[in-house]
Amino acid sequence: LPTIFQQAVPVLKKLEKAGFEAYFVGGSVRDYLLGRTINDVDIATSAYPEEVKAVFPKTVDIGIEHGTVLVLEEGREYEITTFRTESSYTDYRRPDKVEFIRSLDGDLKRRDFTMNSMAMDGDGTIIDPYHGREDIQNGLIRTVGSPEMRFTEDALRMMRAVRFVSQLGFNLESTTLISLSDHSKLLAHIAVERKTMEFEKTLAGRWKREGLNLLVDTGLYKELPFLSGYRTQLKAFADLPGLDSLNKDQAWLVLLTYIGEEDMQAFLKGWRLPTKMIRLRSKELDILKERHTGWTKTLLYRAGLDAALNVEKVYGCLEPSSDFSVERVMEQYRKLAISSRQELDVTGTDLMVWADQKGGPWVKERLLEIESAIINETISNDKEEIRRWLVTCNRL
Ligand code: ATP
Ligand code: MG
Repeated sequence: LPTIFQQAVPVLKKLEKAGFEAYFVGGSVRDYLLGRTINDVDIATSAYPEEVKAVFPKTVDIGIEHGTVLVLEEGREYEITTFRTESSYTDYRRPDKVEFIRSLDGDLKRRDFTMNSMAMDGDGTIIDPYHGREDIQNGLIRTVGSPEMRFTEDALRMMRAVRFVSQLGFNLESTTLISLSDHSKLLAHIAVERKTMEFEKTLAGRWKREGLNLLVDTGLYKELPFLSGYRTQLKAFADLPGLDSLNKDQAWLVLLTYIGEEDMQAFLKGWRLPTKMIRLRSKELDILKERHTGWTKTLLYRAGLDAALNVEKVYGCLEPSSDFSVERVMEQYRKLAISSRQELDVTGTDLMVWADQKGGPWVKERLLEIESAIINETISNDKEEIRRWLVTCNRL
């Protein structure tokens, strides 16, 4: 077993010693069988939350109404969730009621896809009543039970299917696919934040082309913020050669150029994305527009290294026959005389002393002139040289 499981085996054993069943479940078992990196191991148990808390000295209630207790063991954190069923979904999202149960079977049955409905005990024995292993071998995403029922219960599962396509390169099993197309409108009931989370994972995946095509072909895209009128653009986005090699941020940037929304800020806010992310993408979009006439030292400096690299990568993708090179941009950036204002060898105070004048808007103006002269290599970033230059130009 991989180390991450081995380290967690004592947690299972403690629950078993106390008379309960406990297994690894969900994404970790799937990723183990796929040979992918395992992010975190989730544990499911027959113990009720209060019973879990009695077994472990250090716990945190993180979602006790859903049966989840966070356990701290050997400096590591484990989410331990009581076996449960979910019942009476009335609003196409999240169950009205969760019921704790004592049997693993019922717990596996409520899970979304066969590949996510396996359990593994501490010896590495896999419990797989829905034949997830076989579906993994065939690269298939299949709902546990009737897809109609499962997508109607919780419409987010349709977005999860798409992001798993993008992450794993799998196909949807045929009835699952048909049902997804039939029920895509139900996604309207899901909170934007949750759709965004799955969409971002879709953009981050290696098979994002397949994921995006699926969004378009099934009509799911119509229930995503602002995208309903953009079928053609989304198709073009999905078909862009080189798309696979872009990371999530770069993929967003390409999408933004395809959408060409007047008000980019409003578009990204509509997705409830963090302010910082919105600022970064808006800036990159501006830099990208200017990149079409070539990089200047000033443009590189304004961009900063991360944005410059994202922009160059995206530019190369959009304009494959142009003269672009991420390595060259990195090299040119490294050669800039300074990379931020903080590196200037003068301060506003220096200027006020030299000019024997009080502060005011002129200080900032002068600093900007100095900054620009240094970036364009008219002068070097040296206090004495800057002072002499100011005197020569009558700027003091
Ligand atoms: P990741 O590796 O991205 O975390 P994951 O499969 O572990 O993928 P989680 O959101 O962490 O996804 O969920 C853990 C498990 O809970 C899933 O593997 C699945 O068994 C179950 N699950 C999650 N969301 C749903 C849902 N909407 N409906 C049914 N089961 C779900
Ligand atoms: Mg997970």
